[in-house]
Parts: sequence; C-alpha cells; structure tokens
Amino acid sequence: MRDIDHHIVGGPGGSSSRFGEVFDPNSGQVQARVAFGDKAALDRAVAAAEKAQPGWAATNPQRRARVMFKFKELVEANLEELAHLLASEHGKVVADARGDVQRGLDVIEFSAGIPHALKGEYTYGAGPGIDVYSMRQPLGVVAGITPFNFPAMIPMWMFGVAIAVGNAFILKPSERDPSVPVRLAELMVEAGAPEGILQVVHGDKEMVDAILDHPAISAVSFVGSSDIAHYVYRRGVENGKRVQAMGGAKNHGIVMPDADMDQVVKDLAGAAFGSAGERCMALPVVVPVGEKTANELREALLPAIAALRVGVSTDPDAHYGPVVNAAHRQRVENWIQTGVDEGAELVVDGRNFTLQGHEGGFFVGPSLFDHVKPTMQSYKEEIFGPVLQIVRAPDFETALKLPSDHQYGNGVAIFTRNGHAAREFAARVNVGMVGINVPIPVPVAYHSFGGWKRSAFGDINQHGMEGVRFWTKTKTITQRWPDGSVTGENAFVIPTMG
Ligand code: NAD
Repeated sequence: MRDIDHHIVGGPGGSSSRFGEVFDPNSGQVQARVAFGDKAALDRAVAAAEKAQPGWAATNPQRRARVMFKFKELVEANLEELAHLLASEHGKVVADARGDVQRGLDVIEFSAGIPHALKGEYTYGAGPGIDVYSMRQPLGVVAGITPFNFPAMIPMWMFGVAIAVGNAFILKPSERDPSVPVRLAELMVEAGAPEGILQVVHGDKEMVDAILDHPAISAVSFVGSSDIAHYVYRRGVENGKRVQAMGGAKNHGIVMPDADMDQVVKDLAGAAFGSAGERCMALPVVVPVGEKTANELREALLPAIAALRVGVSTDPDAHYGPVVNAAHRQRVENWIQTGVDEGAELVVDGRNFTLQGHEGGFFVGPSLFDHVKPTMQSYKEEIFGPVLQIVRAPDFETALKLPSDHQYGNGVAIFTRNGHAAREFAARVNVGMVGINVPIPVPVAYHSFGGWKRSAFGDINQHGMEGVRFWTKTKTITQRWPDGSVTGENAFVIPTMG
C-alpha cells in the first residue's frame, strides 16, 4: 500500500499514529493511506516556515516571479502525470482533471506578474515637504485548507498569490485526494522556491484546529462546505487571524422564454452533471420562466440526459466519472429519496447505477427532478451530485427572487437574448458571481472568485487583486526630510494639511 506523507522540511517525521484511506473511486478500492498529522507535525512545519519566510520576503519581487514562471513550466511538463493522479483519487475524467490543473495555473500566471500588483500608492507633496506612500508587505506564515473537489486549482488559487507576495505557505489539502498537492509542493522546490516556503501537512479536524490555534499563523484561507467554513471563520477570527472561508453553493440557471434552448440544454448537461456535480459552481437548479419554457426545456433535457455517458476517469468518451467515495454516493442517493418523499417528480432516477466491469466504483447515474418547490429541503440544501432540479417560475421577478433568497449565493446564470433582462438580473440578483449565457461563471484568474451569503465568510475574494489584498498588509508612510526651516514650535493639535 502506498503511503502519502507530509511535505515538511526535514522529512515527514514518521510520527503519525492515525491515517486516512484514499480510495480509487473508479474501483471502490483503497489505493493509499494518508498520514494524519497533529500539532507536533504542524509545529515543525511552522518552525521551518518562520525560518524561510524573511529571506523570501526580502527576495525582490521579480526573482520571486521567476520561480512562479518556472513552476508553471514544470507543471505543464508534468501535466499528464498530474491529471491522471488527480483523476485516480478524485474520480473526475482525465480531460476535466487537466482543466483543474490549468485553472490553477492561470492563477500562477497572474502571480508571475506580482511586481506590478505589489506597487503601492504615492502622493508627492501631500503637505509642506511631506510625501505619503504605501507598500504591501507579506503577512509572514499563512495557511490554506482546501476541499476534495479541486485538489489542484484551489491550492494554487491560494499559494500562487500568497507565495508570490512573499509569504511562507502551509497547505492542508483534503484528505480524500492528497497526492496532487504534495506533487505541486515538490515541483515548487524544483522551481526554486526555498525549502519551507510551501509545505503540506495532512489531516482532519485535529490538524485544522491546530492551524486555527497556532499563534504564528497569521492568515487562513479555507474552501469547503458551509458549516465548516463558518466554524473555521469564527475560530480563526477569534484567534486574531485574517480569515476568508468559502462555503457551499446551490447555483441557479434562469431560462427566459427567448433563450437559445439548444445552447441551454448543452450548457446545462455539462454544468449540472460534469464532474458528477461535485463543483461549487455546478448548476444543479434550473428555473424556466413560464410553463411553455418549462415544458420545452424538460422535453429537450430528456434525450440529452439519456445520451450522458458515465464511465471511469480514463475513459476518453465518458462525460463524468464516479463520486468521491461511498459515503458521498449514499448522501446523494439519500437526497434523491428526500426529494421523492417531499413530493417532487423524479423524472430520471440515477440511483443504483452500476458500470459493467466496475461494479465496486462509486458511480451515480444522472437524475432529473421536476416540480421542485422552494420549501423543499432537497432544494434548500446542497446535494453535490449529478442531480438537476427544475423549479418552475411564472415570471422574471419570481425567478430573480429564487437565487436571491436562497441561503447560498455563490454563482447564478441567466439564459436570454434580451439584454435589458440580463442587465437587470445582473444588477439585482443577490449572488456573488453571475453568468449571462455562461453556465459556470468562474471568473478568470486576474479577476476574483467569491460568493455571497453562506457561500463565503469574510469579505475578501480569492485571487486577482483581492487575493493580493488578502495575502498582504498595507503600510502607509508619511515622510518629511528636514531642510532646516522648522520653527521649533510644539504642535499640540492634530496636524492638518490645510
Ligand atoms: P469539507 O468541508 O468536508 O472539507 C473541506 C476541508 O475541511 C478539508 O480539508 C477537510 O479536511 C476539512 N474538514 C472536514 N471536516 C472538518 C471539521 N469537522 N473541522 C475542521 N475541518 C474539517 O468539504 P469537501 O467535501 O472537501 O468539499 C466540498 C464542499 O466544498 C462543497 O460544499 C462545495 O460547495 C464546497 N466548495 C466551495 C467552493 C467555493 O469557492 N465556494 C469551492 C469548492 C468547493
């Protein structure tokens, strides 16, 4: 059995007494075990990070950027290995796993432009002989805690920016697919990052709590489910840390009567079922406006769903693979039963799906519900599986209200040819990321990613300039150089520049 250990300066230490099982979701077999670290393992990582960080912060930004360039090259050179490793632990198809790595690399590309992003503000002559300027300084030792569903992209969202601005970063990846994060840390060392600048510690709640309580860690970025995000936010902030904590989602796609229905169905098939629905920007709720639109959409969805091919990650023709583990498959199937019990119409039932030759794999077939009501629990909660729910709305205002009133506010999309309706929708909807005829509106790396309401705690987004703000603190300097003209008067009132 393969062992996956921490990536800590001086070696993993071998002190773990607890381990987690890492499955191959395609076969249902355990393929490795991952060490679960404790406070002692974290202390060693923090000590190494504290040692390495001042020198890294003092390295000029252009040199730091060159490490990011080199890292990008190395990841690209190892893309196939990374994508296969990722797919074998997560279950997503290899083509999608390449996308997972690529969307992370986009943030590395952004981070390679860090000298530009770090330039401060300057005012010459803010007062008599006085200039004011600001600089962005790194926070020191920082940490990221990431979910299973994007084991390459989300760590890179965080450490790309955090390291480029001069911090030392400790990553606690998901224990369900921990191998790719370790490979990324090894490639960062190969790219020239000093030892201790990117370390990986594995574990569960014990390690997360150790991070949240560690006095030397000054900021924590978290992505995962909402209850845990809220917990991480509260505990981290209580301990005086800067925290951003992204949570779950239930994204809606509004389909207006004038939408291009062929395009909508293509977009929905990918956005609802791609990656087995295990994306925080998946589109698991579709809201057709008007009965005619709803009936037309339902008719068009049926053949598209029937054509979906569920397969193993390495099947180049598969649209999506298994879910991450048996417990999650059970959870998804329980939600389908809840939907039935609540009175929604189960039009396509994906439960009890088996893939010939891979009977042990954690596969779930695609499911479609119609006549889902906003009062139903299966609508209110995140299912995170290949399940699409149709919620019919009589008009635009009702459709707008659904995502706006939902507890989650990560992403939303509207499909229409009417520019005015789209513009109104984008301005008024109470959700953080909006797509107009774009089903999965994940912003590009130089913009920033973040939901609203229970989809994100804290108010600074991931990557882009928001990421630079999160991982740095601003220092503002007011300077005056003596020219011998000072009169010597004491100033007991606050100085004004007037
Ligand atoms: P999760 O909340 O189970 O785990 C996330 C991290 O928290 C992992 O590193 C895990 O080890 C740790 N953790 C788990 N239980 C913990 C506990 N009791 N105390 C402290 N830490 C704990 O999430 P997941 O299942 O890995 O990922 C899926 C979730 O993440 C979904 O809800 C999805 O919507 C969300 N997500 C959100 C975004 C976003 O940007 N908003 C992006 C991706 C995923």
